[in-house]
Amino acid sequence: MNIRIEVDINFVRQKFIHMFKCTKCKKRDAVITQKYSKRELCGPCFIDEFENRVYKANREFKLIRRGDRVAVAISGGKDSAALLYILTKIAKYVKAEVFPVLIDEGIANYREKAKEKAIELCEKLGLKLTVKTFQELFGTNIDKANAKKSKAWRGSCSYCGVFRKYALNAAALELKCNKIAVGHNADDVAQTILMNLTRNEPQRFMRFGAISGVVERDGFATRVKPLIYVTERECATYCHLLHLPIHLGECPYSSDSYRGDVKDFLNNMENKHPGTKFNIIKSFLAMKSNAEKIEQKEKQIKSCVECKAPSGGETCKACQFKKELT
Ligand code: SF4
Ligand code: ZN
Repeated sequence: MNIRIEVDINFVRQKFIHMFKCTKCKKRDAVITQKYSKRELCGPCFIDEFENRVYKANREFKLIRRGDRVAVAISGGKDSAALLYILTKIAKYVKAEVFPVLIDEGIANYREKAKEKAIELCEKLGLKLTVKTFQELFGTNIDKANAKKSKAWRGSCSYCGVFRKYALNAAALELKCNKIAVGHNADDVAQTILMNLTRNEPQRFMRFGAISGVVERDGFATRVKPLIYVTERECATYCHLLHLPIHLGECPYSSDSYRGDVKDFLNNMENKHPGTKFNIIKSFLAMKSNAEKIEQKEKQIKSCVECKAPSGGETCKACQFKKELT
């Protein structure tokens, strides 16, 4: 009798990661399995690769440049801790300045604990933390709003998201910052792309990207996403390896079930088909770049001076050819 035992090799690799050597340096013990690249990496090689991917995003999308004043949105969580840490390195290199900003939504037992970690992180990095509260800006906060839900109640996250964007922009203006860096990682980005698609929101879809929001001008700051090429799990590993203080709790109002469903779907796909999240991001960026090129070309189309037909130059090709033949 033949007995076939199926072994999930990825599960085995993750479980016994300490028994593998790093695929890159082949010397040190591995600490993380990268399913999408079919590699196991040691701490130093992982940190190197993580930072190189953030540097790549920074170069590719021209995110943080010389002379920029960057308000860095931090929450006390892993993504923004990784973001602030690496942006201090980039800022030193490109000669920019970073200003950590924390928005306190007024959520008891959640934001206070996270704020403690954010303060600890800023002290470790020698940076002054700016805190803005919903209470001071809007005369209410998320706990209070929840306690007396109005008739037109839209759900905590809807108010929170809009108020946070506003508060961040207000803090950036006060600090005279021209950029706002947010800790959206590859997971968040892939989720948003898919959500914009499945909700049939083409305008949002095309506006989205590593640089989004309004173009830099007086009274506005440009939003940048330097973590677009690193995953949520990688941000957590990066913070863990560098001993960055982070808060791991979840907001008690977290209720965006649509995003939650998309997240579960993507995690499931990534598990079965490693690389799915990055493929979504890469396809989206390629589509966006093509669409921008087409738009540019269309803008350049003029009217032919002789026959008024659409033309790339002063005179259209048909009129040019007609002259050649007569
Ligand atoms: Fe705000 Fe919703 Fe996030 Fe909680 S889960 S911090 S309410 S956006
Ligand atoms: Zn290594």
